[in-house]
Amino acid sequence: AVRTRYPALSQALLAGASGQLRNIATTGGNLLQRTRCLYFQDTSKPCNKREPGTGCPAREGAHRDLAVLGHSEECVATHPSDMAVALAALDADVVLHGPEGERTVPVTDFHRLPGDNPDADTVVRPGELVTDVTLPPLAHGTVSLYRKARDRASYAFALASVAAVLRVRDGRVEHAALAFGGLAHRPWRARAAEEILRGAPATDATFLRAADAELAQARPLRDNAFKVRLARHLAVDALAALTART
Ligand SMILES: Cc1cc2nc3c(=O)[nH]c(=O)nc-3n(C[C@H](O)[C@H](O)[C@H](O)COP(=O)(O)OP(=O)(O)OC[C@H]3O[C@@H](n4cnc5c(N)ncnc54)[C@H](O)[C@@H]3O)c2cc1C
Ligand code: SF4
Repeated sequence: AVRTRYPALSQALLAGASGQLRNIATTGGNLLQRTRCLYFQDTSKPCNKREPGTGCPAREGAHRDLAVLGHSEECVATHPSDMAVALAALDADVVLHGPEGERTVPVTDFHRLPGDNPDADTVVRPGELVTDVTLPPLAHGTVSLYRKARDRASYAFALASVAAVLRVRDGRVEHAALAFGGLAHRPWRARAAEEILRGAPATDATFLRAADAELAQARPLRDNAFKVRLARHLAVDALAALTART
């Protein structure tokens, strides 16, 4: 059912990790996995996310894989999940159950931007568990896909990725949802691009304009400006491929 109705999600899942990891990983665990920033993982190094107030060596150090959007002085990490990027474009909800009862959070609000407290990755409160992830039905004629650029064809996190959901009618975009992965501390829902896409002719020129409007917000670091161009091409390519199918 997921393959048929939500191909962006099945493609994102299959693009993640390796066969062995995918067979053991869980939906809750994948949403809650933490950053792959080298300094976060190396406990001999300072890191604001691991130990607030100790600094962010990645900002001047090894940050090729890290954020170009939404980062802060305190942290430039990215969220590693592929699945969450597809869920963001598909407008999924996360159901949380905790001591104060049940609540539902749109997946786009589930992960945080780092701000001045990057130690908190998500809005999950102490004692809460993810119990469900729900997907809304998509209107007839809606198509979706996930594209991921990485250093190796398997077993590698995204340098940049895009999940695109599109419905075209009479040559015009009726619905578009776009989310980027590998660019920010959370899946990056591309609202500025969507605004341009809605109602516009489904052409490469529109897709380029939309991608550029979104990525104008990017603030690349010394070694990761390539991610902006990569994301631009991934988005335009994904939208063009989906248009050809409608
Ligand atoms: C080498 C390697 C490469 C990888 N490559 C990718 C990749 O390319 N793309 C990708 O998306 N992922 C990738 N992953 C992540 C992998 O797919 C797993 O999702 C991730 O390692 C988390 O493992 P898990 O799902 O078993 O969760 P766990 O390790 O069991 O849990 C992770 C965290 O979530 C908490 N948690 C788990 N379930 C819940 C819940 N229901 N409610 C609340 N908290 C919960 C746990 O307490 C823990 O803190 C990679 C992992 C590795 C090790
Ligand atoms: S980018 Fe974030 S996770 Fe990495 S060193 Fe800086 S504070 Fe730590």
